[in-house]
Amino acid sequence: MRKSRKRNGRAGRLLFTVVLLFVVLCAGFLLKGRISPFFDKLIAGTITGDGNDATNGGVSVEKNNTEKNNADSDTDHINNNINNNKDNKNDSNNHDDPQNNQNNEHQGNSNDRQPAENVDDILVLVNKKRYLDSSYKPNDLVVPNVKFSFDEEREKKYMRKEAAEALEELFERAYKEGVYIFALSGYRSYSTQKWLFENKASEIGEEKANKIIARPGESEHQTGLAMDITSQSVQFDLKTKFGETEEGKWVKDNAHKFGFIIRYAKDKEGITGYNYEPWHLRYVGKKVAEEIYNKGIALEEYLS
Ligand SMILES: [Zn+2]
Repeated sequence: MRKSRKRNGRAGRLLFTVVLLFVVLCAGFLLKGRISPFFDKLIAGTITGDGNDATNGGVSVEKNNTEKNNADSDTDHINNNINNNKDNKNDSNNHDDPQNNQNNEHQGNSNDRQPAENVDDILVLVNKKRYLDSSYKPNDLVVPNVKFSFDEEREKKYMRKEAAEALEELFERAYKEGVYIFALSGYRSYSTQKWLFENKASEIGEEKANKIIARPGESEHQTGLAMDITSQSVQFDLKTKFGETEEGKWVKDNAHKFGFIIRYAKDKEGITGYNYEPWHLRYVGKKVAEEIYNKGIALEEYLS
């Protein structure tokens, strides 16, 4: 009698355990269906974020972001084209047609295209006739300690060390004098430039695209010696109007003291191959910058 009750008790506990296990398993499966996407995301996020697998997720995600953002806001030549079209309408008596100059420049000299020489020299010449190899990337890129018009960690924050230090000095002086400028776009890789150009070319055709955006290898931004700057007065954008703002004027009058030149001057479109860009600073060192500033010449003229 006692034995059989005991056996029943054991059987009961066993049944209870089996049922409990079954319920737990069922609940587990049900829950898994709901929460697995959450876990999948969590796991994917961890892999991307921690950088252990830099050749996969992390890098490509960052790259896509960079490229998208570049295409939105800081393709000099896209904005410049829009602004220059405006300028040409308003101011056509004072200029040759820079758009035509640019066009002729490229078509007329496409046979003269040669690889850039002394690519690590701070006086390297990169333009529509002198191009950088797709593999070229400066090996001393750093982020200058200056104010940027955005917060994210991006490729375009970088500059070569010497240029970055000079930019810090320039910004320090500007801020002391109450001139609030912001850095917008520095180093740009060959692949980013290629993406920008091809994107535009697929939209409007290669020939038209090259009027407003540099071909890969032909952008000075790949040297790590250039920085586009902006200000609140031009809505943190790249506009020709920047040249007429308090900030733009200050930069024009002072950049050379820190080793920078306004690389694409207003009256030099035929020589540089690019429209006027009051925002595009190119580092060449103090001595050369002062000479270029005093003589009012383009880098091409200085080097020839
Ligand atoms: Zn630029």
